[in-house]
Amino acid sequence: MEDIRDITYERLEEYLVSLGEKKFRAKQIWTWLWQKGAGSFEEMSNLSKPLRERLERGFTFHRAEIEQELRSKDTTLKYAIRLHDGKEVEGVLIPSKDRVTACVSSQVGCPLGCAFCATGTMGFIRNLHYSEIVDEYVLMNRKAIAAYGHEISNIVFMGMGEPLLNFDNVMTAIDKLTDPEGWGLSPTRITLSTAGIIKGIKALADRNFPCGLAISLHSADPIVRETLMPVTQGNSLHDLQAALRYYHQKTGDRITLEYLLLSFVNDSVAAAEQLARFCRPFPVKINIIEYNETPDGKFHKSYPNHREAFIEYLNSCNMVVRVRASKGQDIAAACGQLVKKQGDHRE
Ligand code: SF4
Repeated sequence: MEDIRDITYERLEEYLVSLGEKKFRAKQIWTWLWQKGAGSFEEMSNLSKPLRERLERGFTFHRAEIEQELRSKDTTLKYAIRLHDGKEVEGVLIPSKDRVTACVSSQVGCPLGCAFCATGTMGFIRNLHYSEIVDEYVLMNRKAIAAYGHEISNIVFMGMGEPLLNFDNVMTAIDKLTDPEGWGLSPTRITLSTAGIIKGIKALADRNFPCGLAISLHSADPIVRETLMPVTQGNSLHDLQAALRYYHQKTGDRITLEYLLLSFVNDSVAAAEQLARFCRPFPVKINIIEYNETPDGKFHKSYPNHREAFIEYLNSCNMVVRVRASKGQDIAAACGQLVKKQGDHRE
């Protein structure tokens, strides 16, 4: 049976007319689905009971649920979200002075296997459907209102998975979230973060992507980056630089580069010089991220004096640099750590 959120508005209208219902019922159902975040036909209180029962028999209604919530001392909230087939993804709510940012997942697991990432060790399981991505937002938005008294103001695609390897679903989810007839979020408050899928970056440029773009760069040295991020093999730094130049030419946007500082791996002044050279062709903002240490002890946080020297060099090149403190360390807030932990416990 088809999922109700898989069909177009036109098909829904046709279906309702075939049942002898008025066309405007489609608008009512659509509002429940894509504006009110209904989780079942039962909730659609302005539909007659027989119609709700008919819909129940005609369609499935896959809905995600929050499986577990972890609260950090710093008020970050982390969620394991269970999908209709029992698979799980993670979502994180990060409050700050004037915003609540939701970090959402785009895939169950991830095929890219970055060396510093718990999700990478799970391998790829499946893509999220756009309605599942929207569910992450809906479920966490309710939690944000309850916990902080504010709705989610910003969304970052930085959770599990590589969004540009689930391009169509991610684009449709963004369309739904920004639709003025739906949740009406501003595209400027959404950021898509990619490990550097060149084909996807060019496709975003060609569609004049209205949201922010962030690249998980983590090294501008081809050998170091390939060790950290195997995606570099098919998406070389040279080609990535060209794709980002193209993106900037097309959109005029400044690109955010995420840089996780790892002790004695990518935190030397020489590494900062390479990074500055990589960024010359386009304007960037660099987000320096502190490493969230994991029990495997594979990587370590950069020493404060190394971090300062690294940042000082970038500042001396007049680059825009922001240091992002690692949030939710006590609740394993880095990507994949919660779901991975649960999986390990179940094995
Ligand atoms: S960091 Fe992102 S791209 Fe890399 S393995 Fe983890 S989820 Fe995938």
